[in-house]
Amino acid sequence: MRSLISTKWFRGFPRPVTLFAGITLVFLAALAWLSWRVIAQDRAVERQRWLERCEVAAENASAQLTRQLAELQSALANATAGRAVQIPAQGIALLIFRGESLEATPGTKLPYYPALRAAPESAPDRFIAAEALEFREKQPLKAAALYAQLREHRDPEVRAAALVRLARVYRKAKLTAKALEAYAALAGMGSVMVEGDPAEMLARLGSAEVYMERSDAVALKREASAITAALAEGRWVLRRSSYEYLEEQCREWLGGALSAEPPLESLALADVAETLYVQWKNGALNIDSPNPRKSLWARDRSVLAFWNSEDGQLSLLCAGPSYLKTILGQAPGAEANLPEIVLEDPEGHRVLGSADNASALRVVRMASLTGLPWTIYAVPSNPRALADRLSAQAKVLLIALALMIFFALAAAVFVARSISRELAVARLQSDFVAAVSHEFRSPLTTIMQLSEMLVRGRVSSDERRTQFYDTLLGESRRLHGLVESILNFGRVESGKYHYDFRAADLGELAHEVVEDFSKSAAEQGHSVEFRRDGGPLPVRADREALGRALRNLLDNAVKYSPEHPIIRVEVAGDKNFATLSVRDRGLGIPPHEQKAIFTKFVRGAAAKERSIKGTGIGLAMAQAILEAHGGTIEVESVPAEGSVFRMRLPRAEA
Ligand code: ADP
Repeated sequence: MRSLISTKWFRGFPRPVTLFAGITLVFLAALAWLSWRVIAQDRAVERQRWLERCEVAAENASAQLTRQLAELQSALANATAGRAVQIPAQGIALLIFRGESLEATPGTKLPYYPALRAAPESAPDRFIAAEALEFREKQPLKAAALYAQLREHRDPEVRAAALVRLARVYRKAKLTAKALEAYAALAGMGSVMVEGDPAEMLARLGSAEVYMERSDAVALKREASAITAALAEGRWVLRRSSYEYLEEQCREWLGGALSAEPPLESLALADVAETLYVQWKNGALNIDSPNPRKSLWARDRSVLAFWNSEDGQLSLLCAGPSYLKTILGQAPGAEANLPEIVLEDPEGHRVLGSADNASALRVVRMASLTGLPWTIYAVPSNPRALADRLSAQAKVLLIALALMIFFALAAAVFVARSISRELAVARLQSDFVAAVSHEFRSPLTTIMQLSEMLVRGRVSSDERRTQFYDTLLGESRRLHGLVESILNFGRVESGKYHYDFRAADLGELAHEVVEDFSKSAAEQGHSVEFRRDGGPLPVRADREALGRALRNLLDNAVKYSPEHPIIRVEVAGDKNFATLSVRDRGLGIPPHEQKAIFTKFVRGAAAKERSIKGTGIGLAMAQAILEAHGGTIEVESVPAEGSVFRMRLPRAEA
């Protein structure tokens, strides 16, 4: 039925379905457009919200930086005036130079300092006698005895200088254990200076040299590591040359890599301090403007420097990026939905921040506007995450839209199919009514004409009259049969037919029906050949109903085989089933109709084209009867070659 309906359906869309499809399409298009607008609007709002957040972040950063730089400026002013200052250790260096020397480093720890030089000893003449023994008379042990006495001197500088010398003579005398002991005592004196170098540094360097001479690799490495740790934390006040020498030595002793590198930022601060100090000494530093400051580039990072120069004194304050980071409160890898602050100096160097500042979703504060030495950018710290968030929102909306469209389409398809099915049923019913009317018309016309002739006495001979009566009876029977079959179909189909199942022999039942049918078939020039295999085929059947089903098949075989008069009926059986087949060599049925013809009111195209009478209920009724018997009916057919209809019934116990 579906194939018949669908071919009709496509031949011309029924108007209600076309209308419905049109409305659905318009609705879906409107829905899609609306959703697209919502998505676009949502993205625009989200971008706007983000830009506002960037505005706030840039504004805050600008205010914060302005305030903090002013604080640094006042710390510098205080230090210049000799007042105590409090500066954070992280990322800040404050150095005060007087004349040619470094005066003070309040709270500052750098790997090396400018303006330090080798200083003469405070009391070199104390060692004259001992040095004479050591160098001129080559009597190291005697010299050692004198140095050892000075070890106990109350002036720490003298003590430290004595220890340096004591260790030296022991080394010369190959008394390494004693030399190391002297160095250990010297190391305990910490930052006491010996000729411009801290005692601890000299002690550790000396010990390392001893270990090297003794080829004690383990102790050498331990000592070198201790030195690099001290360098990294800026424990000693060193000249640049000492720092570089120590670093190089340790690198060699440790096999290339230092166990602790000094932070590059401290080195950058030291570099900048040295550069500015040299400029100041050469008179190249701007000291006239009210609050001089400058952003300098050293070791791949930017350092901001402020200075003050009065009465031969230079106060210098350098701030590195980590200080800026702490005042802006920015942790690396900040949250995806917070803007990151990027600072750039006038040369385009990146001072702070790692995010891409070319983003379209950024806010810029130019240096000329803020009065700061940098341009401020507030940008997405994780543009990918931001983009993902935007597209995730769009995705949710898209999924919602897709679901809505899917359900709307599913509903539309369902409704369209229901409409078309209803229309097809309506059409089939109207076809049925037309067919039934047609079937009724010809016997009624005959009955009317013959009755009229008889009533008016126009039939003179008795023989003709008898013939007329016969015809009247025949036509009335046909009408009766027609009405009966329609009524029976109604009963069978609605399930109101009361089957009377009894034991029967299918062969005998079929033979009886065929015998009866053969007479009327013969009138139409057809003959029915009956064959049965073997003995009785017991089934449980309603003889009346099953006989009607067989009669329908025989009727069809005659109707649809106008040119092939022989019809074969065969009854056969196996262990479980009894089969009854009706075979003709007539018009046949095309494959696409073979299923649909068992549906009520459906008639084949050939039947309609050739105007073969029928109402389309015969096979539907046969199928309903077979199903009530627990059996089946099926067709095998080749167009223009003929058809076999096979009824199968379960065998009853004999
Ligand atoms: P009707 O014969 O009244 O049209 P049926 O339900 O008996 O209704 O048959 C349905 C359709 O099946 C017929 O219209 C015809 O196209 C096809 N058909 C049935 N039997 C045969 C047959 N033996 N040969 C060819 N076509 C057949």
